[in-house]
Parts: sequence; C-alpha cells; structure tokens
Amino acid sequence: MLRLPSPLAHRSVSATIPIREDVTSRVVVAKNIVSVDRIKYNRDRFRDNFCIQELESMKKATWRDCLLLALLIGGGSLPTQGDEYLNGIEWKEPAILTPGESGKPPSDAVILFDGQDFSSWNGAERWKIEDGAMVCGRGDISTKQGFGDCQLHIEWSAPTPPSGTGQGRGNSGVFFMENYELQVLDSFDNKTYADGQAGSIYKQTPPMVNAMKPPGTWNVYDVIWTAPRFNDDGSLKSPAYITALHNGVLILNHFELKGDTPYTRPPQYNKHPGRLPIRLQDHGNPTRFRNIWVREIKPIEWKQARKPFMRKPDGKEVPIE
Ligand code: MG
Repeated sequence: MLRLPSPLAHRSVSATIPIREDVTSRVVVAKNIVSVDRIKYNRDRFRDNFCIQELESMKKATWRDCLLLALLIGGGSLPTQGDEYLNGIEWKEPAILTPGESGKPPSDAVILFDGQDFSSWNGAERWKIEDGAMVCGRGDISTKQGFGDCQLHIEWSAPTPPSGTGQGRGNSGVFFMENYELQVLDSFDNKTYADGQAGSIYKQTPPMVNAMKPPGTWNVYDVIWTAPRFNDDGSLKSPAYITALHNGVLILNHFELKGDTPYTRPPQYNKHPGRLPIRLQDHGNPTRFRNIWVREIKPIEWKQARKPFMRKPDGKEVPIE
C-alpha cells in the first residue's frame, strides 16, 4: 500500500492504492520530482529524461500501474486552466531601428562602403571606385574599425568576362578578424577543390550548396559571425562560429571553425583581441564590392529580478522551487 503524493491528492484520486513493489520505487522517484509547480517549470527536461523511460517501463506494467504513472506524470504536467508561468526576468527594452529595404542597411548599421569612398578602410590606395563599386587592386584592405561578434552584409561581383580557372578565377575573400576567410571566388561553372570554392571557409568546409550567380552579376553574402574567445593563458575558450547566406540561401549553418585559414598549414587558433578589422583580399583578380555594412551583435540585457513563479487565476503568485 502506498499513500499517494500530494499532486494526486487534490485530483480526487483515491488516497490509497495497492501497487506492485517495482512500481513503488518509481512512484517514490516521481514523488521526489513531481510537484504541480515544479513539473511545469521542468516540463521539457522531465519529459526528455524521465517520462520517456517511464513510458517504456509502463509497457510492461499492469493497467493499474499505467494508470497510476499516467496520473503522476501526465496529470502532474498539465497546467491548471488559467495558470500563467512567469520567468521573473526583467528584460531591457529592445532598441527600435528602421530596417533597410532590399539589402540596404538598417538604421543602426556601421556603413563600410556606400559607393562613395574608402574612408572606412586602410590600404585602399591601389583600389579604385567605378560605378559605385570598389574594384580590387594591389594589396588587401582592412576596415579601420575592429569588430567581434557581428552581422555583415557585402555584395560582390566576379570579373567579367571571366578569366582564369580554379582558384585563379575571381578570387578574393572576406577575412573576419583578419584571420578567418570566407572565400570569394567565381564558382559559376568553375571547378576547384570543394573547400576552396565561393562560400567555403577556406580549407575547412565547402558551402552546403553552390548558390553562385554568373560573372558580372551581383552576389550577396549575409553573415552572422561569432568571434572566438581566449583564456588569459592564450588557450581557446570557445571557437569561432559562422552562419552565412549566399544570395539568400543558407550555405553555412553555425559552422565551428577549426582555427584560422592559411594555405600553407593546418588551421590553428592564436590568441588575439576581441575586436579586429574585417579584411578584403587581393588575389590578383578585379573582383568588385558594393553595399557593405556591419552591425555589432549585442545580446539583450537582462537580470533575474526574482525567482520564476506561477500566477494563479485569482492573482496569487506561487514561487517555483
Ligand atoms: Mg580567397
């Protein structure tokens, strides 16, 4: 005989039910876990870690055992009509901005190139501007400002008529934090090694698909970049991640970088500042760029003002322990 735990008591279930001993142990576990409020708070974890196992066990149990466990687990996890869960967090009001139209920058973006000049860049003495686009010249160029976690929009066009083959055709690159290359290449009907084509993280991964437009037309990269973090002793705390869309198509989905992207050695991480310039590569081809803007990623600010709680229909607030 087992006295049922409190979650069942208020559900008008008989307070005393004979059950098998093996089920008793499970009920005791449930009794420790289940309270009406706690099971709502831990609902997802509970279902994943406990309920599935219990349901498997229930297949072997008697109908009475099944009924009991269903009441304990299923019944306990259902919210009472009118209850409201509140997480106790005070969120900072999200900033209001004006979105851009058709790839144009939102109002909070840092404009890196709008067709006018190289004022946001270093090293552009041998690059030129034609028809509102910067044309790759001698030497790489880097933003004057450094960036860590960021959202980048950049449009680029491979040279036309196309010239060269493989890595020699329309090669450039977007280097985040000066070290990590998102490849720019004319990959329209141009074979090369997979992890060296447009949209690859150079020598680490190809893009999931080739979404390339023909030479002379404009390609668009929209990128979410998460900077690597380093410990004080120089060791890696967390790697860099990249999510990228090429012409609106997802090509890299939260890809974890193995390190930097050189041609001559395996990738590795070397401690560097939290913000570094974005660099555009000169690989000897007159690739064109336009409409370049970036937004720093700043997580929303918040504080746990109080513990999570349930608000009952009568206004009573019950803390979730
Ligand atoms: Mg390149």
